[in-house]
Amino acid sequence: MKEEKAPSENNSGLMVEGERVMLVDNRQRRYLIKLAHGDEFHSHSGVIAHDEIIGTPEGTEYRTGSNARFVGLRPTINDHVLKMPRGAQVIYPKDLGPILVLADITPGDRVFESGVGSGALSTVLLRAGAVVTGYEIREDFAATAQSNVSMFLGPNILDSYEIKLRDAYEEHDDSGFDRAVLDLPEPWRVVPHLEGSLRTGGILVAYNPSIIQVQAFRKQLSQGPWALVETVEVLHRTWHVEGNAVRPDHRMVAHTGFLTHARLIAS
Ligand code: SAH
Repeated sequence: MKEEKAPSENNSGLMVEGERVMLVDNRQRRYLIKLAHGDEFHSHSGVIAHDEIIGTPEGTEYRTGSNARFVGLRPTINDHVLKMPRGAQVIYPKDLGPILVLADITPGDRVFESGVGSGALSTVLLRAGAVVTGYEIREDFAATAQSNVSMFLGPNILDSYEIKLRDAYEEHDDSGFDRAVLDLPEPWRVVPHLEGSLRTGGILVAYNPSIIQVQAFRKQLSQGPWALVETVEVLHRTWHVEGNAVRPDHRMVAHTGFLTHARLIAS
């Protein structure tokens, strides 16, 4: 079996067999390939042999027989989240960055996460050095999350990532968490359990697509020992920049979810 290389294990040297690389064409389209000796990348504008890419640095330009140009780059966490196989709907990079900062994740933090879904949020938490315990009710999603996480961070990351097939609305098995992040339909049902399993001073962040969920969640928090509660929405608008046509893009993703964060205090 060929050795699998994750980008995080090899992110500065020459590109090697077994790792994932993006080929980007002139129109900024990205194609993700896994480098293997003897394989070829086929597009409608021609073929590039993987052997031409193996042993070259990132940013190298390759040309097909018909002279179409592709640039080789390692995928970032942003590319990974947008391209990863999905079971459940993922949290997008627009919200992943703010969640990481609002939850103030530092290396070694013990983080409770539920549900794990496709593992997009898990990937950013683990990459920031957290040790994650995930509660997930669907076995198939738990498997997808594990495979997505190790595809990007390498198989050793699974030492810091434990998924339990458990209903987060029920009593916890675990305690001593520094942080908790929730992305499930009724996060208010997890709050009473977190009051026992999160340490005081710990931070809770919930991602909710609907403001009705936020309302119920906030009501629950207001009845418990929670401080500094805030709900935010992150707006992300790209711009069209071409010659003198410099303006916001006509289309944007107007809504993903609301982020509510709070800190546990002594009761
Ligand atoms: N944040 C994830 C996506 C989570 S989708 C990501 O970025 O990839 C919501 C997940 O919550 C689904 O996988 C669903 O199966 C799980 N879920 C729903 N109710 C749950 C419960 N009561 N306990 C644990 N997991 C639950």
